[in-house]
Amino acid sequence: SPGAHVPALIIGSGYGGAVAALRLTQAGIDTHIVEMGQNWTTPGADGKIFCSMLKPDGRSSWFRNRTDQPVGWFIGSDVNKDIDSYAGVLDSEDFGAMRVYQGRGVGGGSLVNGGMAVIPKRPYFEQILPSVDAGEMYGTYFPRASAGLGVNNMDSAWFDSTEWYQFARVGRDDAQAAGYATTFVPNVYDFGYMQREAAGSATKSALASEVIYGNNYGKKSLDKTYLAEAARTGKLTISALHTVTGVTAGPGSGYTVTMTQINTSGATVATKSVTADRVFFAAGSVGTSKLLVAMKATGKLPNLSDTVGAGWGNNGNVMVGRANSKLTGGNQSAIPAMGIDNWDDPAGPVFAEIAPFPAGTELWISLYLAITKNPNRANFTFDSGSGKVGLDWSAGQAQPSIDAAKRVFDKINSKTLTSYRTDLFGVYKTWGDDFCYHPLGGCLLGSATDNYGRLNGYPGLYVVDGSLIPGSVGVNPFVTITALAERNMAKVIATDLH
Ligand code: FAD
Repeated sequence: SPGAHVPALIIGSGYGGAVAALRLTQAGIDTHIVEMGQNWTTPGADGKIFCSMLKPDGRSSWFRNRTDQPVGWFIGSDVNKDIDSYAGVLDSEDFGAMRVYQGRGVGGGSLVNGGMAVIPKRPYFEQILPSVDAGEMYGTYFPRASAGLGVNNMDSAWFDSTEWYQFARVGRDDAQAAGYATTFVPNVYDFGYMQREAAGSATKSALASEVIYGNNYGKKSLDKTYLAEAARTGKLTISALHTVTGVTAGPGSGYTVTMTQINTSGATVATKSVTADRVFFAAGSVGTSKLLVAMKATGKLPNLSDTVGAGWGNNGNVMVGRANSKLTGGNQSAIPAMGIDNWDDPAGPVFAEIAPFPAGTELWISLYLAITKNPNRANFTFDSGSGKVGLDWSAGQAQPSIDAAKRVFDKINSKTLTSYRTDLFGVYKTWGDDFCYHPLGGCLLGSATDNYGRLNGYPGLYVVDGSLIPGSVGVNPFVTITALAERNMAKVIATDLH
């Protein structure tokens, strides 16, 4: 309500926001989350909350008239589908040379992602975040994050025998033929549930091509873990379909937060403002960076660090497909379970997820999302003409990622006598290098904030999401985002709130 006051307000409900919500509410603090996306709890006319990847409707996408699939092409045709514009769950935010995929809804990226729950290699973590005590992270906060997220492991005997992971076994064998190591990847999708799907005793989700537009069953997204636990304290309220548009200092030592409420068609229903003693930015790398850059440029938070908006990277993401000569399987689980681990190769570190292509029919395609050590970074900048925040990533900045991935997949192709698919990311376009799933940075720890995410210049303002991490983490990022948020919230609660 207008003039309302809350002790703690969290902007966004992804990993950083969910950790902040749990730890604040457990500390007895009334906490309010403001989330621009929907609370995904109501089934549509088909009885399902989310739509599948193969039959997308308006629920798939954040206000688009046509889907924007990551793999959007097939043999010369654009395979996207027309849909009704709606407050759907997956956004692809277009910054010219880079489209950034993000989840929209209570649970943020956890609603749409592949659930791969990977702890980074310790030497690389120490390199990217040298000011963070790695002993504490690996001893306390990574285990705490993995437990809180509900991470589990694939049963290797089932993996070896099920038709649903034929694609991953082929990917493993091809990699090993070229001398590369592979590794199982833990996940927050319940592999026990998946086995029951395969046995016909549970409703199919991962085995019904559900991922990126949401999973109706099986996945422990944040609404089922951290956020559910926070709600059980009785101290959490969530306003969904509310977008924060401004944060400014005052009255007193607190902050005023302005927001716009929309309906699922995108029409504005109300504009509101509330005051908060403390504000936690958890809108994701893009959302937090955009807000902070705009607040600094428009004089609403003029004392923010000059480095706000800097240090953004795509975690070296690049996708590629191979035309395989082996059967990869008409039935593919939509949840990845294995990766090629060439990270320790100084000539070109690559950690590549062996990705499914769950089209429901045999396509002889091996698909990969490669994470590389791309040193290039970009900045979020304010355009006073449009009043919008852009990202100055340019097309050529993806080249180091392509070079590293090409080294690995050229060798795999040469050992297995296969070739690249050139039709999946455009017409004669081999590399999916103009979009990413892993936006990181824009408000770096120890630069725009102190060593615990406190924003320089504004006591009571905190950053708790992926924007703290300097552009790269070497593996899929959500466990690191969660663990870093756990570490920072432990400090903030112990020292600022008592
Ligand atoms: P987010 O999870 O993005 O949460 C930010 C939230 O803030 C969102 O809910 C957003 O709607 C909300 N928000 C933004 N701006 C505002 C505003 N102004 N007002 C109110 N709310 C706002 N990572 C992995 O580790 N493993 C994987 O397998 C994996 N697969 C992925 C697959 C896909 C398709 C995608 C898109 C991502 C994947 N990721 C994966 C990445 C992972 O989901 C992200 O790194 C993670 O969600 C980022 O967490 P976060 O807390 O920084 O922000």
